[in-house]
Amino acid sequence: MSGAGVWEAPGRVNLIGEHTDYNDGFVMPFALPRTVVATAARRDDGILRLRSADAHGGPVELPVAELAPGYGPGGWSDYPAGAVWALREAGYPVGGADIEYQSTVPAGAGLSSSAALSVVTALALTDLYGLGAERERMALLCRRAENEYVGAPTGIMDQMASACCVEGHVLHLDTRDLSRRLIPFDPAAHGLRLVVVDTRVKHAHSGGEYGKRRAGCEAAARALGVPALRDIAYAELPGALERLPDSGLRALVRHVVTENHRVERVAAALAAGEVRAVGPLLTEGHASLRDDFRVSCPELDLVAETALTAGALGARMTGGGFGGSVILLAEESGADAVLDRVVRAFTGAGYGEPGVFTAAVAGGARRVA
Ligand code: ADP
Ligand code: MG
Repeated sequence: MSGAGVWEAPGRVNLIGEHTDYNDGFVMPFALPRTVVATAARRDDGILRLRSADAHGGPVELPVAELAPGYGPGGWSDYPAGAVWALREAGYPVGGADIEYQSTVPAGAGLSSSAALSVVTALALTDLYGLGAERERMALLCRRAENEYVGAPTGIMDQMASACCVEGHVLHLDTRDLSRRLIPFDPAAHGLRLVVVDTRVKHAHSGGEYGKRRAGCEAAARALGVPALRDIAYAELPGALERLPDSGLRALVRHVVTENHRVERVAAALAAGEVRAVGPLLTEGHASLRDDFRVSCPELDLVAETALTAGALGARMTGGGFGGSVILLAEESGADAVLDRVVRAFTGAGYGEPGVFTAAVAGGARRVA
């Protein structure tokens, strides 16, 4: 236990496995070297005082004992307040703190700034109060914070990625039982570059559409008599599709089952050192999200298609969709030319300047001072 310190928790990119986490399926995120940094100190008066350099307005002060869903001003402070509430609800003797946040994770870009914010808070308070909460526990509590305190129905991927990733590895995660495997992933060592292109768009209907996809997947699982779509094996897909009368549900099932299969294929390719083989699987995943799950949008499609035309090995939207980011895998020798084409096509279509950065494979949440 110590009175003060600095902690950071990363945003993440999901390499493959999109919209599978609420179907008890597989995901494969890795942490970015972009983090939310929390400078924190204990307070003995039970007050949680939160301030973010990236949020408007002054500090938010909340008594830890009063925290409850719906309590407080709402907005960004619900994420850290929710994390502290979830720790307290789980029986941890957590007290007050002064916390200042600074972030290099763009918010709302599909890179999971929200989990970085809640996980860094849980880690800081765990250390400040010697709570002994383990990483997996922290992730579960942070998901509870997002689900119940913020009211965002997210799965467990983002929090697990921020809490449990290890530098130079993807986190191959089974979201049903949280069993996981770290698989080495070093594109640069193979002469490759993995790039994130942030479209900087977020379509307003994204939240409602997410809820509809989730409800559709649950309805399909009920119709098929399985606890979750994860229980439909790839080999069983044709039979499952035949049993579903509704073409909309069929398309959702087709995406989830083939996407889970793609995660396994990417895991096998990486384990075999065949990093280039990941490219076409990314592209397949994009087509599935666009055509079957219908969560892409013109901005994402333009980036992905232009990248492929310009010679990228593969490209796909990452995150929930309806905006956010595309990841693309390209030969290092051709990456600049690909990105030049992508940026010109994007700005030429009147979509503004995208954010572009190389996705280094970084580590999970940690104390830094
Ligand atoms: P994503 O997690 O993909 O970035 P979300 O919509 O889940 O997108 O979370 C974004 C929200 O998280 C922001 O609207 C804000 O409330 C909160 N947030 C993220 N980063 C910060 C920050 N540095 N300071 C304050 N709030 C933040
Ligand atoms: Mg989020």
